[in-house]
Amino acid sequence: MTGTILVLNVGSSSIKFAAYPVHALQPALQGALTGMGTGKPELEIDTDHGGLFDPAPAPPDLPEEELLAFLLGLLAERLSGIVAVGHRIVHGGRSHTAPVLLTDAIIADLQALVPLAPLHEPHNLHGVAAARRIWPEAAQVGCFDTAFHRTQPEVAQRFAIPGDLHDAGIQRYGFHGLSYQFIAGSLPDHIGSLAAGRVIVAHLGNGASLCAMKEGKSVATTMGMTALDGLVMGTRSGAIDPGAVLHLLDAHAMSSAEVSDLLYTRSGLRGVSGLSGDLRVLEASTDPNAELAQALFAYRAQQEIGALAASLGGLDALVFTAGIGQFSATMRARICEGMGWIGLDLDPGANSRNAIHLQRDDSPVRILALPTDEEIVIFRATRGFISEG
Ligand code: ADP
Repeated sequence: MTGTILVLNVGSSSIKFAAYPVHALQPALQGALTGMGTGKPELEIDTDHGGLFDPAPAPPDLPEEELLAFLLGLLAERLSGIVAVGHRIVHGGRSHTAPVLLTDAIIADLQALVPLAPLHEPHNLHGVAAARRIWPEAAQVGCFDTAFHRTQPEVAQRFAIPGDLHDAGIQRYGFHGLSYQFIAGSLPDHIGSLAAGRVIVAHLGNGASLCAMKEGKSVATTMGMTALDGLVMGTRSGAIDPGAVLHLLDAHAMSSAEVSDLLYTRSGLRGVSGLSGDLRVLEASTDPNAELAQALFAYRAQQEIGALAASLGGLDALVFTAGIGQFSATMRARICEGMGWIGLDLDPGANSRNAIHLQRDDSPVRILALPTDEEIVIFRATRGFISEG
């Protein structure tokens, strides 16, 4: 089989994409359309041999779905032989434990999950619809951020609510699974057989979560039924007393849409600092609220590392990844500070150099900073469908 596999990750403010020749190990082209909804969208494209997009055309200021059509139209013009499109789908619910061919029936099933991931799922599905229109002959494959966590024991997935509500789908699903799958696959290259031990991966980007793994499989995670739970994030609150949500609805007479906007887009680093949800901005600021936001981010991460280590019965390795995890030496140092009790002993020199191995020589627990690559995970899964077909 020859041809090209396109990987699409359609979000609310950005569309990331990559195109891989079927038998390649690296993308021939990858890029991102960012700043959607800001009035100043930007298109960045890297190609391995240049020429396809040189320079990348400036995208027009259009509503989201038209920008999506603009981008896919551009890719369709320049890329020939698209045999399959792999889509990142944030929520796969309980039944999707592996990538699937996106048939009409499956898409209808995924539409029903939109309320569980209102910030992500609708955009993911817009991407599927647009790609089906442009490449009707190509296999369309959905890869789920929730699927990696379906190996967790029942107690890790269950909320303490009555069974009929659990049966209706109210449970912990977990997210960032494509990133965790990539790390699980690359970790043996860095720490050998220890990768099968007790590992916590900290995916710290705009969204942030932790995953506890044993034998490379998820046993616990910090995100819940939605991607709102767990750690402090760029603009999301993370875990908050459910009683506080009820109080906002009742005593503050907020509508559920207002509470949703508050907790998804006006909280987290942005809400606490009052400045920005971007850690780089806070690290450059002397505002005491910027300091408080960073302290809270680190404190919650420390607490949840402790909780996940309890699920694992100890800790052999902590892996930092995504924008903050891979590049913020300051945040990694804050998180490891005072965590000697669990065996974390960060080497400040290696940390400030953004090295891969970050622990002191005699640290009982390995500490690593690794890149993640959700696109290549989607590419490999999608290729599996066409070679079978
Ligand atoms: P997304 O979840 O949208 O994919 P990223 O993984 O790119 O996001 O992470 C974005 C976050 O990473 C932002 O808070 C940004 O400030 C932070 N970040 C990226 N590079 C650095 C850096 N060099 N130092 C500190 N923070 C960084």
